[in-house]
Amino acid sequence: MARKDRPETSLLPVEQAQELALQGVRRPPAVKTPLSDAIGLVLSDDVVSDRDMPPFDRAAVDGYAVVASDLQSAVESAPVLLSVVEEVQAGVVPTKAVATGHTSKVMTGAPTPAGADAMVMVERTRSKHGSVVEFTTPVTVGQNIRPQGEDARKGDRVLGAGQVVGPPEAGILTSVGVIDPVVYPRPTLAVLSTGDEVVDPSQQPKPGQIRDSNGPLLTAQARRAGVEVTQLGIASDTFESLSRLIEQGLKSDVLVIAGGVSMGDHDIVEDVLLEFGFEMSFDRVNMKPGKPTVFGRCGDTYVFGLPGNPVSGLVAFGLFVRPLLRKVMGHHEPLPPMWPAVIDVDLRSSDPRRTYQPVSSSWKDGIWHATPVDHHSSGDLRSIALADSLLVIPENSGGVEKGSHLDLVRLTDL
Ligand code: AMP
Ligand code: MG
Repeated sequence: MARKDRPETSLLPVEQAQELALQGVRRPPAVKTPLSDAIGLVLSDDVVSDRDMPPFDRAAVDGYAVVASDLQSAVESAPVLLSVVEEVQAGVVPTKAVATGHTSKVMTGAPTPAGADAMVMVERTRSKHGSVVEFTTPVTVGQNIRPQGEDARKGDRVLGAGQVVGPPEAGILTSVGVIDPVVYPRPTLAVLSTGDEVVDPSQQPKPGQIRDSNGPLLTAQARRAGVEVTQLGIASDTFESLSRLIEQGLKSDVLVIAGGVSMGDHDIVEDVLLEFGFEMSFDRVNMKPGKPTVFGRCGDTYVFGLPGNPVSGLVAFGLFVRPLLRKVMGHHEPLPPMWPAVIDVDLRSSDPRRTYQPVSSSWKDGIWHATPVDHHSSGDLRSIALADSLLVIPENSGGVEKGSHLDLVRLTDL
């Protein structure tokens, strides 16, 4: 039975709704994936190094490989002279050892020659006639040489299961020869906007019409979460239109429908879903905005019905859809992090629901300091662009006093 036809029951607390959305969610098996497609995805296994890093004793500067004890007495007024036996460029191996009284010219990144135990920067030397070089300062053993295996030994774990492949990880993977890491795949997600009044943004709205902001907004949130998105377009509030597009959307792993889940006569999304065998998990959450959020499954597809007001949709996506996507993708912490925050004004609230208040914030002394932005309603998307976070105002608080400590969630985590 759709919610409209049931008596009003108590609203589900946000945490319980999140638990319901995440319970039983399974991630598909991890697969070998070309590195360029794996950015943002989660490693299923530890990665071990196939070689020492650095793989050889490596020159850290352009200069001269020396026996450090040769230069003990070197000073500006009485330089030490060494004769050059070889030049070693990066990418080749030295062919000659460096004996006392001798030096090799070695470039950054090249292996240092046997016998040498330090490198002197070329800037600290003076080239004499022919193949003789003057050294005017002493050097300590090991200076400017990165020893083999200093960063990692062959067989060492260099990345752990559960780590996200970001820029440094991409570099680490290739340095140990992994060009197709094993990661959990990106789920597919379809976005459907609904409403007789909603028109494609390429069209000029007629009187009574509005442009679709939910489609692009939710698509951007989904892409930022790392999933593959299909935009299904806009369904009108009819059984036929909704059925046709919902049927297409059910080919994806996750279907997000915006609008049509409130109490209006034309809010028929739940009824249409029931025709597709929708198993409802929840359809009323104790939050503002976002109360009529609907979640359940049709077969293997997770389905969310989000309220049509863009701010409500954004908040509900961040609190329920994104965590589910992150769990499917193998993230160990699927929920958005909550930060400690202090509010710097009094805030009244007549609504008993938990309220997510748009704020701008600054970090000081280990805590966020939050100032509410001018925000009119859950249709006021513009105000969200002035905010960076949502402050969480507890249920039944009647408001909060200046200086109160609360939770804060960053918009970039939604
Ligand atoms: P609904 O949840 O369908 O009752 O819609 C709630 C409010 O959100 C109404 O004012 C709608 O016009 C508005 N709305 C619904 N869908 C969209 C959309 N795709 N873009 C912008 N506003 C929308
Ligand atoms: Mg509507």
